[in-house]
Amino acid sequence: MTSPTRTTNTESQSANRTADRAQVMPTAEGWEQQRTSEGRPLLQFASPRAKQPPQHLADLSLEERQAKLKELGLPAFRAKQLSTHYFQHWTTDPEAMSDLPKAGREELASAVFPPLLTEVRRLRTDDGNTIKVLWRLFDGALVESVLMRYPGRITLCVSSQAGCGMNCPFCATGQAGLTRNMSAAEIVDQVVAANRLIVAGELGTPEHDQERVTNIVFMGMGEPLANYKRVMNAVHRFVDPVPMGLGMSARNITVSTVGLVPAIRKLADEDLPVTFALSLHAPDDELRDELIPVNNRWKVDEALDAAYDYYAKTGRRVSIEYALIKDMNDHAWRAALLAKKLNERGRGWVHVNPIPLNPTPGSIWTSSERPVQQEFIETLRAAGVPTTLRDTRGKEIDGACGQLAAAE
Ligand code: SAH
Repeated sequence: MTSPTRTTNTESQSANRTADRAQVMPTAEGWEQQRTSEGRPLLQFASPRAKQPPQHLADLSLEERQAKLKELGLPAFRAKQLSTHYFQHWTTDPEAMSDLPKAGREELASAVFPPLLTEVRRLRTDDGNTIKVLWRLFDGALVESVLMRYPGRITLCVSSQAGCGMNCPFCATGQAGLTRNMSAAEIVDQVVAANRLIVAGELGTPEHDQERVTNIVFMGMGEPLANYKRVMNAVHRFVDPVPMGLGMSARNITVSTVGLVPAIRKLADEDLPVTFALSLHAPDDELRDELIPVNNRWKVDEALDAAYDYYAKTGRRVSIEYALIKDMNDHAWRAALLAKKLNERGRGWVHVNPIPLNPTPGSIWTSSERPVQQEFIETLRAAGVPTTLRDTRGKEIDGACGQLAAAE
């Protein structure tokens, strides 16, 4: 479906240059987008399923673990021992816990390490350097994580919700709606499980024998900032030093959002220098209102202001994600408008990551053609905005950005 290029006053000048280029507007094809009674795409902030999994050691801070052990009639120092098994040795097997008294060891392990993730399926691609795992949660909900080996780093793309309530029509996860928020431990356990896969030699060819997940991106299923408290709790487990947590660097953890402005501002105040990514996908409200339904609540400029303030507070350079969709958002005038909006706020605070759209079952949209991608990138670069095309992994196994749908 195409419609003539629509422009607003401020954009009309640059739009003229590409007046002959088609303007495809987002429409759901092959699936029905849930709408509100006023006809707007439905946004789900509250999870329909409230019940959370049993509490796990990884849900708790060290002090909370100590309190919990006291409750169980055990000395507080057991908290550190149990934490070492989980966060340092990635084990929950009572047989391996020879520093705990044999009597009651099994009961203790099952009390603090209830099984949270059951592997349903594992798919591999890129010569074994990319693995997607489908997990079943305690209530049958399904989520996916994607593990990727790159030279010098290993990245895990984690899910933070079963499904997603943000309803973006080009994303497979959004098409299914929200099932529920994941607990902090369900998020953390994806990383621990990935570390186990790595030590078992499952991920391509090891570079050395101390390998583990070095980078985490909240780019799996879900909108992390819609599950703020549990996601932040999980981030604390990632960065807390071993054995309190996994001892990772906050800089190597990326939180990606559709643009929940109050939550972005809260994140900036956390004193945790995580990397921040904004899924923008359009610099103009007219298109973004359709492409990212949450834009009806917080507009492009508000999201960019919050992203800039994140940089100003933390000193961390922000990423802008931009899926290039043929004839929809890939016009050179949009690249120029994006550059203008970024430069207006300052220099050196941001870089842009265009991603050629990955196909999803419910949409007929396709990725921009090479020369158009190139023109888009060049336009941004010429305006002084650092821009790198994202190499997406895992397309062959439906494990790339926007393709996670978790069906059995
Ligand atoms: N909800 C968060 C986290 C998910 S991240 C967010 O939207 O940022 C997943 C990233 O992949 C987001 O930037 C998302 O916009 C992008 N994405 C979604 N569908 C895609 C698709 N079909 N092709 C390429 N990227 C896609």
